[in-house]
Parts: sequence; C-alpha cells; structure tokens
Amino acid sequence: MPEATTPSADLDFDADALRGKYRHERDRRIRPEGNAQYQRAAGKFGYYMHDPYTERAEREPLTDRVEILVIGGGFGGLLAGARLREAGVESIRMMDEAGDFGGTWYWNRYPGIHCDIESYVYMPLLEEIGYVPKWRYAPGEEIRQHAVAIAEHYSLYRDAVFHTRATDFTWDEEAVEWTVRTDRGDVIRARYVIASSGTLTQAKLPGIPGIEDFRGHTFHTSRWDYEYTGGSPDGGLTGLADKRIAVVGTGATGLQAIPHVAEGAQHLFVMQRTPSTVDVRDNRPTDPEWAATLQPGWQRERMDNFLAIISGENAAEDLVRDGWTANARLQRKMMTGALDTSLDPAERERRDELADFVTMNKMRERIDEVVDDPTTAEALKPWYRYMCKRPGFSDLYLPTFNRPNVTLVDTADHGGITRMTENAVVVGAAEYEVDCVIFATGFEVGISGVLSGTLPVYGRNGRTLLETWAQGPRSLHGFYSHGFPNLFHLASIQNGNSVNISHVLQDQATHIAAVIAMAGKTGAKWVEPTVEAEQAWCDTIAHKAVDNSAFLTECTPGYYNGEGTRTSSSSFAPGPVAFHRLISKWREGDMSDVLAPASDDEVSPSDHRQRR
Ligand code: NAP
Repeated sequence: MPEATTPSADLDFDADALRGKYRHERDRRIRPEGNAQYQRAAGKFGYYMHDPYTERAEREPLTDRVEILVIGGGFGGLLAGARLREAGVESIRMMDEAGDFGGTWYWNRYPGIHCDIESYVYMPLLEEIGYVPKWRYAPGEEIRQHAVAIAEHYSLYRDAVFHTRATDFTWDEEAVEWTVRTDRGDVIRARYVIASSGTLTQAKLPGIPGIEDFRGHTFHTSRWDYEYTGGSPDGGLTGLADKRIAVVGTGATGLQAIPHVAEGAQHLFVMQRTPSTVDVRDNRPTDPEWAATLQPGWQRERMDNFLAIISGENAAEDLVRDGWTANARLQRKMMTGALDTSLDPAERERRDELADFVTMNKMRERIDEVVDDPTTAEALKPWYRYMCKRPGFSDLYLPTFNRPNVTLVDTADHGGITRMTENAVVVGAAEYEVDCVIFATGFEVGISGVLSGTLPVYGRNGRTLLETWAQGPRSLHGFYSHGFPNLFHLASIQNGNSVNISHVLQDQATHIAAVIAMAGKTGAKWVEPTVEAEQAWCDTIAHKAVDNSAFLTECTPGYYNGEGTRTSSSSFAPGPVAFHRLISKWREGDMSDVLAPASDDEVSPSDHRQRR
C-alpha cells in the first residue's frame, strides 16, 4: 500500500500559508443558513422529479400480504432480496418510486455517467450473476443493466411494484406485522419491512432568488432531459448546438457531465462555487486475459482488499491500485477510521496534514499543466483538505476549459448564484443570458425518508421513529430500533460507512437475511433489539467516537460537514472493516439481543418489560 508522506524538514511549501489560504477560501463560501440555503425539488418544484424514462402505468390498489416488503430497488434492496432468496424466502415484494430497478443508476443517466469506484469492487454479485464488467470504471447504463440482471436472476420482479411510494408504516401489535400504505392507495401487510431507499435520493435545488422567474429550459442532472439535449449518456448532445447553457455545480456529477455539454453547446457557462479535486481517471476496457485468470472468490477478495486499504487498515498488497487507494490514508478523515494507533495522535495529525498538503499540491499542479489560461487555472484550484469534499477523477474535465465555447464563472464571493431572471443567471453584477440551466446541485443526505419525516413510521403504541430519535439515532448496529419490531434499515447510520457503498450494503444485506433466517428457524415472535442492547450500542458509538471536529470545522462547506455546521459523525468510528468483523462475530451467537422468544413462557418478566 502506498505510504503516507514522511514528514520532512525541507518542505518546498509553507504549511502556515496553506492553512491560511484554506481558511480564507472556506470563509468565502460559508453561508450562515447552512443546509437551509437549499430547497427540495418537491412541491412547487415537483416537476423536476418527473420520471423521464418510464411511463407510469395505472393499476388497481393492492390490499394483500407478503412476508417481506423491501422499500427501494437500488443495490441495497436488491442485495437484501438476493440474500433472502438464497435463504429460501419466497414471499418478497420489492417497491420503488422509480419505474424499474437500479436506484441511483435508474435516475442518474446524465451524459458521461460512470461509477468512480472500480467496477470489479463496486458492482455487486458479479460471480453470482456470472458477469465481468466491460470497463474498469463502468458507465452508468452497464451498472443499471446489472441491477436488472440481479433482479432477474433472483426473481425479484415477481410481486414487485414500481412508481410506488410508501407513505407510512404502521405496526399492528395484534397481527404482529406492518401495514404499509402507498401513494397508489395500496394497503400492504408485511411481517418484515426492510427500508433501503438510499442516502442521496432526494434532489435539491439552490434557493436562488428568482429561480421561478426563469422562462428558459431547466432540469436537474438526475432527470436528464435528452428530448431537449439530444444524444445519450455516451454524449452527442446535438440538440444543444444553438443553445447557451449554464451548468450549476461542479461536484462528482458536474465533473462527468460538463465535458459532454461543452462539446454539444453553442456556449457553456460553468457556474462554480467550490472546485472539486480532479485526479487522473485512467479508465480502460477490461483485459480479457486478466478476466480469464479470475478464480472463484476473486470478487470478495478484491472488495475486502479495497475496503481495508481505503479504511486505513493494514493490507499486504493493493489489488486495485487507483487514486482511491493511493490517497487512502487521507480518507479516514471522513470515515474517522482505524489506522496506526501506535503514533501519538498529535504526531499522526501532523503527518496526515503534511501528506494532505502534498496530495493537494499535486492536484493543483495538474490544473496548471492542463489548463491554458492562468486565470481560469487559478479559479479551478481546490484549496481545502482532500477529504473535505468527495474526491473527483476525470481526464476530460480540465481540458474542457481550453475550449473557446466554455466560460468558467467563479461564484464563490457571492455564496453561489446571486439570482435568476427570466432569461439569465446573475452572479454579482454580471448577467449571463442563457437558454437552459442545468442543476448539478446534488441531493439531500438522509436515510429512508424517516429522518426527514417524509415517511412516517408508527411503531409500538403509535410512537414515531422520529420521536424516539429526537435526541439522535438509536439503534442496534444501525439495523433496528427498540419499539419498531421487524423493521430493518439498510443505511449509513450507527454502522460502518465507506465510499464503496455497495460493499457496505452487501454486508448489511447478509446480516439482515441471517437475522430473518434465524428468526424463522427459532420461531421467534419478532425481531427487535432489547432496550439494553440498543443502549449498549449507542454507548459504544459514543465511546469509540473520534473527535474530528477540528477537521470538519476547518473544511470548506459541503454535505460532508453539513455545509459547515456538522462537527461529528454517527458512524462506528473504528471503520467498516471493524464493523463487519463485529457483526459477523455477533451472528455466531444466539441473537437473543433481538429475537423475541417464541412463546410467553420463555420470556422472563424483565425481558418482557424491556421488549414491550
Ligand atoms: P454535490 O457533490 O452535492 O455537488 C453539488 C454542486 O452544486 C457543488 O459543486 C455545489 O457547490 C454546487 N452548488 C450548490 N448550490 C450552489 C449555488 N447556489 N450556486 C452555485 N453552485 C452551487 O452533488 P453531485 O455532484 O450530484 O454529487 C453528489 C454525490 O453523488 C457525490 O458526492 C457522490 O457521493 C455521488 N456521485 C457519485 C458518482 C460516482 O461516480 N460514484 C458520480 C456522481 C455522484 P459547493 O461545493 O460550493 O457547495
């Protein structure tokens, strides 16, 4: 694994000056209203969320019963469905608001879309499906089709409902099952509900004054309008040849879409507030000779190796060898992961910061090498620590700014776009007349709609999950909460988190399926953590927490630090590898922390009190 930079006395940069520059650049962008600067693409902006890919088919409301209802047809839901099928469960209904499986890969079809995590470790169940991705970093459509292939392989289309949104879950104490209502008028009863509706699903728009006044065309990148732009996710946006376009946002999505918009448009204004890091991508087709050498178990080995390295664990070799693994030691800053505990924390922090400066200097040098105009190059430089923002990778993005039809508009001093008029985007005193504004402005961060309250969950005695979580999340291992029997979450709260989210979801799905299988085997009345087990886990999360507040506070604002307001994390600080080890060991036990014994005779009075 690449070594962190060894601190050296003869540094060719002034660390204090860099710290000062980072602070100055952060202060240019901090907005006092934090997350409130955004508005949901919902309600009066609901048209931004219209599904452009699949027509909605009318159907009669369902009033039936299934054993397991899985909310969410992305990789989390699919993995849960797959593992439950493997465990022999027949009655599974998948539900999604989208018109098909795929989750984020269903919705996001913008030009240039690829997964920036290597396909061999990101795309799940490759060996089970018998598939080797065509590219090292797969295009979105290949990933979407893989999601469909998983659903077909595990017969998950059977009983599935699409274009259907759950509107509430209510626990029925008598029947020992959930009643789930939907926006289609369905009333579905289910013994178990698995909520896996994603962490970055609800698109957001900036609260730009005058946004509604704009009379030109506009859409969000997660609902790309190919009718307007022409072309496909591979590019060729011929519909833009006579159009002036503004793209707002230069995050991971902007980086991938902007080169294609630039190629198609008459003129493109890139509205940037904070530049992303843009590391080398080096995508290439899968080498068939390499693919032929793969032995059974290869994917798990590669995934485990990647997760270990990016979580700061010791690994003898680096199988993936890309930008993520090269910059691995910097990544625990977000994950608050494990790493070398032998060093004194202050010394570790000093070394981390130096390694960070070196990495970020390389990113900035690359911009000078690629971008011709020095003023544009300067404005494209990221001045913050590497893991303050989602790292970016592209070999197409930076050269885009050498095109004569592309203008970079730096909005940082104005906190973003100042306002919009009928036909223009205004930044400070400058007005940019455009025909179309494309919002690459990202998503709200949350879990399963329950945190935002858009999906109320009524557990025992009608108490809502939000009420019981008023002082912060309460769960055992992030999967389930006391008072909410037979309800599971696949998400990233109070458990191990990683940028390779599909790996994390895979281990979560394995766990949930094992618990449900054990409940079936032992005839448990329901699955629900005891008060003690839940409290013990909340204590563990608190005791293990690493104080990352200094790092997060110094970071440029973004969703990693709640736009400059968040200074702690609810994750399991030792990291995802340690978390997976912990839950795998827990599964070897009798699961009595969560399985309610089959009959009342077996319930001790105290146990009964705890559970009820
Ligand atoms: P994002 O990272 O949240 O970026 C939103 C962009 O909009 C930022 O550049 C932001 O600037 C800008 N913005 C927001 N309000 C603005 C305003 N008022 N004026 C000007 N600019 C404004 O969203 P995203 O790029 O869609 O990515 C979201 C996440 O999806 C990623 O972090 C990643 O987790 C995932 N993703 C993954 C891949 C992949 O390949 N695996 C690809 C795409 C996305 P500031 O930075 O200044 O706030």
